[in-house]
Parts: sequence; structure tokens; C-alpha cells
Amino acid sequence: CGVIGIYGPGEQQLSRMAYFGLHALQHRGQESAGIAVNQGGQITYYKEMGLVQEVFSDDIIERLQGDIAVGHVRYSTTGESYVINAQPLVVRYKGGSIALAHNGNLINAGEIRDELEDQGVIFQTSIDSEVIANLIARYNAFGIEKAIQKTMGQIRGSYALVISYGDKLIGVRDPNGLRPLCIGKIDGGYVLSSESCAFNVLGAEFIRDVAAGEMVIIEGGQIRSIQYSNEQKKALCSFEFVYFARPDSVLDGQSVYISRRNAGKMLAKEHPAEADLVIAVPDSGTVAAIGYAEESKIPFGEGLIKNRYVGRTFIQPDQKMRELSVRLKLNVLKENIKGKRIVLIDDSIVRGTTSGRIVEMLKAAGAAEVHLRVCSPPVKFSCYFGIDTPTRKNLVGATHSIEEIRKMVGADSLGYLSIEGLLESIHESGEGLCSACFSGDYPMEVPKSGNKYLFE
Ligand code: 5GP
Ligand code: SF4
Ligand code: MG
Repeated sequence: CGVIGIYGPGEQQLSRMAYFGLHALQHRGQESAGIAVNQGGQITYYKEMGLVQEVFSDDIIERLQGDIAVGHVRYSTTGESYVINAQPLVVRYKGGSIALAHNGNLINAGEIRDELEDQGVIFQTSIDSEVIANLIARYNAFGIEKAIQKTMGQIRGSYALVISYGDKLIGVRDPNGLRPLCIGKIDGGYVLSSESCAFNVLGAEFIRDVAAGEMVIIEGGQIRSIQYSNEQKKALCSFEFVYFARPDSVLDGQSVYISRRNAGKMLAKEHPAEADLVIAVPDSGTVAAIGYAEESKIPFGEGLIKNRYVGRTFIQPDQKMRELSVRLKLNVLKENIKGKRIVLIDDSIVRGTTSGRIVEMLKAAGAAEVHLRVCSPPVKFSCYFGIDTPTRKNLVGATHSIEEIRKMVGADSLGYLSIEGLLESIHESGEGLCSACFSGDYPMEVPKSGNKYLFE
């Protein structure tokens, strides 16, 4: 998911700014979009299934008037894809209204939900975020900041939260910093965003990232910080760099573009190929392919043309849709491919659907050889922190050897980037990152298989 928060009674209408910001974060989720505005503690909102552009009309934006805006684009991992689960979540309780947008996934939401339900709490949605909102409401008597801190003490997992309550805009990042969140400055106010790419469109200036375990409170034109947790090891999701984030974003000081290009170069060193042309699976493999070409001295060219009006394949929730959309989305440029030995660069193989189709299409177009190079290690373990690498039985890297995968996808050779290679391409030290879906080394204890709250 993508979250945005805007504070500032400036000239600009905030809902419009949030709308533009969500456009810049659209790649983080395409199922639903929503904006909530807060006017002196009163919250109005609009959310619906679909892309930002489909959800909001000029009329709706016009009607959303307020001094604080919170926005969300959704990509579901838990909680079905229904409008009831769209965000921001707006709830009223004794003491006021709260609007909350959440990117991430809690691993103990099921337990907490059960306990609360036993006490008579009624839940309207199946999203984790409602658990968070409920806990905050329970601790309401302590004041919003304490209530949030107490809530953070109870939930485990990943979260980048943007909350508006009263005259405050609050941003919270989980103790491991698994999901990104950063702060920008605009005229007379501030912006919180999942990714810095949203700042350019808003004319905001990047200030800094919210730290792992930090809560920032924006109020009265000032920004305050509370470090509510110090104990956990920093573990920003490395998949953000591989695939999820936009290349023009900088996460915790590292440019996504540079890290992808580094990864491509590293991949060329680890898995060279004798070939005539390096091509990418657009768009997610493009930057890495440029890096591979640079390092290998094999020319980079276009081999696949993408229909830019079709969304991300993976984000279509079911397998049939996913298969159909590969063909909807990509077409081979025969003129460039015919008779050539191709290095095909993709960012990742998850289920294995995409790569097989593409290799097949390239061969049908007359490619002499296809050497598949993957700019991340085999995905072998489920992610519990909000990226959809669901159950191990669907992860081809968990169930098949590399040679078996090569045969399955029909490539002449197959090479994956090593874990060290990936981590070094992001940070020289390779530290402060989560790579659990590749290594199984989770930054916190995760639910065991068979756990009743785990849907498998
Ligand atoms: P698959 O191997 O599952 O057919 O497809 C993998 C492709 O899906 C990758 O090339 C990657 O670009 C794309 N992808 C889209 N969304 C996601 C996601 O949330 N997680 C992962 N791991 N890959 C994704
Ligand atoms: Fe990211 Fe993988 Fe860690 Fe999930 S397990 S947070 S996808 S690095
Ligand atoms: Mg891809």
C-alpha cells in the first residue's frame, strides 16, 4: 500500500494535493484509493475500489475540505478486496474522530481481534488497521499520543501509519522500519509519504525519513518526534528496492534507481552470459538491465513493449487474471529479437507465471537463445510484512531447484542474484535490511505454520 498525509492550511486545497500525491504512489496499490480530510477535528472522506484516477472526480475533491489530509492506495495481502476494506479507515469514538492509513501487515492482528471480539467489540472490516484503530480508541483516555504508543506496544509486524486526529497529523514507523515513510516540507506545512517520489509532484522538499520506532507529530506548524522504541534491529524491506518502490524514490538515504543499477551490474558479474542483446521485462527489470548491459558490455535494447494502460500483473489478486494479464501487458518486438541470443532481465520470480510466458513469447518470435537473469535471489519464504509472496507452496523458488525452474520456464540458462549481492547493491555495508523472503531469517518471530490465524 501507499500512504500520504498532508498538513498545512495553505493556499492549496489539501484534498487536491493528496490526490496528486496518491497518483505518485499509485504503483504501491491499485485496488482501492481514499482520502480523508480533517477540518477542526471533523473528518469527511471518500474511498472506493479502483485507481486514484477512477475513484476521484473533480467534484469529490472539491467537496473534501480540511486542514489535514490523509490518503491511501491499497494493495491487499490480508483482508479481502472489498470497498469496506478500503482506507483511510475513519472511526469515531469518545473523544473524537480519527482517520488512519496503514501500509504493512500485523502478525498478531488475529489474536488481538479475537480478544477484543470476546469482549464484545464489533469489527466492520477484515483489515489489520481496524485493530489498530480499536486499540487507539481503548487507550483514548491517555490522550492520542500515549494511546498510539500503547497501541504500538501491543501490535507486532510492519507498519507505516499516517493518522489524523484533532489538529494533529501523526506518522509512525514500526520498530524495525520494515516499510518506508518519509517527511517533506511544503509552504506552511508538511507532507508524510511512503515514498519521496510524491514530493516532486507536490513541490515539497524532502527533509528526512521517519526513523524505525519513531512517531512524528505535526501540530501548530511544528514537527515533534517521539522515539517510542529503540530495541529492534533495523530491517527495511529489501523488496522495496527490488520491485516495489519507484526508481525515483530515495528510501532511508538510498536511491532505488542506483541500487537497481548496482544490482544489475552485480548480476552481470555473478552470472555472465554470451549474448547479443540485453533486454528487460519492463518496467521493473529495466534499470537492472541497464546495469547488466553496462557491466557486461553487451548492448541494451528493447525487446518487449509494454501496454502502459494495464496495471501490475501481480496485483491482480487471482492466478487466472495474472496469466491473462501477462499477454495483455507485454508484446515482443520481433525486429529486435529475431535470431539473437538474448539476456532477459527480470526483477524477481515469485510464482513463476510471468517468466515462463515471456520466454515462450521470445522464442516464438525467433530468439536464438534466452538467458534469464533475475535481479534478486530465489524467493523461498513467505513475507509476513505486507508484500504478497504468500504461501510457500506457491513460491516456485521454495518448491523447485534452480535447474528445475530453468526447465519450467524454458530458458537456456538461468541465474539469480545472490543475497549478499542484493544487500550490497542497496547499502555498501549490506546492513539494516530485511531479506527474510530470500533467507528465512525474519527480523522477528513469525507465526508458525498451522497457526490458526495464518491463512494458507
Ligand atoms: P511471477 O514469478 O509470480 O509470475 O511474477 C513475478 C513478477 O511479478 C516479477 O517480475 C515482479 O515484477 C512482479 N511483481 C509484482 N508485484 C509483486 C509483488 O508484490 N511481489 C513480488 N514478489 N513480485 C511482484
Ligand atoms: Fe520485504 Fe521480503 Fe522482508 Fe517481506 S520478507 S519485508 S518482502 S524483504
Ligand atoms: Mg516484473
